[in-house]
Amino acid sequence: MKTSFLNLFFILTATLLRLMPAYSGEAEYIKISGFTQGTTYHITYQNTVHRSLQQEVEQRLQLIDQIFSTYNPQSLVSRINNSAVPVTIVPMMEQLLKKCFEVNHETQGAFDITVGPLVEAWGFGKSQQTQPLARQVDSLLKIVGMEKIHLKKRVLTKADSRIKLDFNAIAQGYTVDFLSQYFDSLGITNYLIEVGGELYAKGVNASGQPWRIGVEAPVDNNQLQGEQIQKIIVVTNKAVSTSGNYRRFYVRDGVKYAHTINPHTGYPARNTLLSVTIVAPNCTDADAYATACMVMGLEKAIQFVKSKPQLAAYFIFGKLGNEYGEYTTDNFKKLIVE
Ligand code: AMP
Ligand code: MG
Repeated sequence: MKTSFLNLFFILTATLLRLMPAYSGEAEYIKISGFTQGTTYHITYQNTVHRSLQQEVEQRLQLIDQIFSTYNPQSLVSRINNSAVPVTIVPMMEQLLKKCFEVNHETQGAFDITVGPLVEAWGFGKSQQTQPLARQVDSLLKIVGMEKIHLKKRVLTKADSRIKLDFNAIAQGYTVDFLSQYFDSLGITNYLIEVGGELYAKGVNASGQPWRIGVEAPVDNNQLQGEQIQKIIVVTNKAVSTSGNYRRFYVRDGVKYAHTINPHTGYPARNTLLSVTIVAPNCTDADAYATACMVMGLEKAIQFVKSKPQLAAYFIFGKLGNEYGEYTTDNFKKLIVE
């Protein structure tokens, strides 16, 4: 009797031990972080692969840099920008360019990666803060517009050699998606990938709960005396991206110039929107749409997000004096926990 009980005990223990590694709740969550694209990245993931993925992640970040960085003179985009002749591009750029054409069309030109020369002229590129004259803006507008670039069988042709592409409004979101595909390919089902504030949250956090994301909109001192608005949202299998004019801007003669350019006017977008947060199924879309909404202004942006049920949005806008207002879509309200 005694022995058979003991046997049963051993059999049960051995079975349980064998089953345990298969129970994914057991693998710990680990964090990796570093610098990329002039900003930081942070990744938390359930370590079902039992190793740090930092090296593999950084290799992929370098690859993105070699293709899309306007700050890297050797990158593919820099070669295109300096070229007077057609350039053959890599499949990753082809994929993102197609997305850019699509978003440009959907947003009626509010999102436009050919704003490069304007971004430079207004001092938000590599050069110092500058103030172009009205006639300079007018002449630069002639080389802005996505209809002035053509892609055929991975060969990119510019209608004018001075045309310059700027992927910065979408590259971080694309990077998040690129990394998340890598994590998916390794079978990791619980992770949070964030690059420069744009993120994708998959599965659950270490407590087995949906990821909690702080949507912070620190508004610059001039306008709102340093007020901080914060909302906590819970997301799973969704991307979150915020665009704002509170981080990259300068004030000249009492006028605020921010880094989102209205491709129709050639001037930095001037409307009441202070920040736009978009929740979307993927981060490339979230990033591109957030920038586009900043250009559109409050009314058009509300209409735009209402026309896309897959998006949830949160807008902060300035009102007279130091007041601010908020607009949240119904599906965004459902995500708010605090
Ligand atoms: P984001 O922080 O994602 O809103 O991206 C802003 C950056 O995108 C700017 O710093 C510019 O480099 C670039 N950009 C500015 N205006 C536009 C625009 N209308 N469409 C696409 N990219 C833009
Ligand atoms: Mg963006």
